Amino acid sequence: MARPRIDLHTHSTASDGTDTPSQLVAVAAAAGLDVVAITDHDTTAGWAPAAAALPPGMQLVRGAEFSCVSPTGRGDRDVAVHLLGYQFDPVHPAIVAEQKRLRLERVDRLRRMIGKMAADGYPVDIDAVFRLLPEGASAGRPHLARALVAAGVVGSVTEAFAELLHNGSPYYVPKADTPVRTAIDMVRAAGGVTVFAHPLARKRGRVVEPSVIAELAAAGLAGVEVDHPDHAPEDRELLRALAADTGLVATGSSDYHGANKTTPIAAETTSPDAFEELLAPVTGVETLTG
Ligand code: AMP
Ligand code: FE
Ligand code: FE
Ligand code: ZN
Repeated sequence: MARPRIDLHTHSTASDGTDTPSQLVAVAAAAGLDVVAITDHDTTAGWAPAAAALPPGMQLVRGAEFSCVSPTGRGDRDVAVHLLGYQFDPVHPAIVAEQKRLRLERVDRLRRMIGKMAADGYPVDIDAVFRLLPEGASAGRPHLARALVAAGVVGSVTEAFAELLHNGSPYYVPKADTPVRTAIDMVRAAGGVTVFAHPLARKRGRVVEPSVIAELAAAGLAGVEVDHPDHAPEDRELLRALAADTGLVATGSSDYHGANKTTPIAAETTSPDAFEELLAPVTGVETLTG
């Protein structure tokens, strides 16, 4: 068999992607992937429909991207970071409670962003957006971006972020995210493993110092996303060396969001050896094969 192709970070309509979970696994198969992880923000609602639609031979890794907050390592204010959790028990009470809290927090926070925009005259019918969210799905800024596109305020989701929704915008409202060490502990307690998602995605705003990633490795973090569309070549090399030094597994992923981003699925991949090493400690749930 040819070397398997593995993409460990994708989004569906259970959060801010535009493919349904069943479309997502079909798109993964059509792109030639052998393994795909579904990693919606703060929810496992896409797991069952993705599993039910799994094409023959496709291996499904069940995961989520946890909204977290971390010290930067510079003594300035904490920064929002994303943590990928894989193959954890989805009914673990702490995870169920924290994901539910964050989904409610996300709605509240988008309403506050919309309130600020409405005060400046932006016409956004966010209730229409919320009505379209599937049960258990996470709302996010990309939903607001699409509402802005629909209202003719901007031409694209990318433009909506660049002009109105980026982290430094006057309309930006932060969420109350989970301390990253708490999230690592929670996922491990539920039998899963964690990977620091796109830690050096500098175009999104401030990022952590490499020393923070090394400290998290000592605190139970299993891997770090090295090859990611938002990582510059020199940052990938820095992270690859850091992974080798600290025993973290180096992963690569597309962070596919369907039509909400331009990156195609399978644009970045994880090596089979790294994949095997990453999932070796899992005791939560098994991967599924169609
Ligand atoms: P939120 O989870 O509501 O804070 O929104 C963050 C999400 O917005 C990320 O997970 C990405 O999916 C998306 N995002 C962030 N920056 C951009 C950008 N420049 N263009 C398009 N989507 C973005
Ligand atoms: Fe996203
Ligand atoms: Fe992310
Ligand atoms: Zn993501």
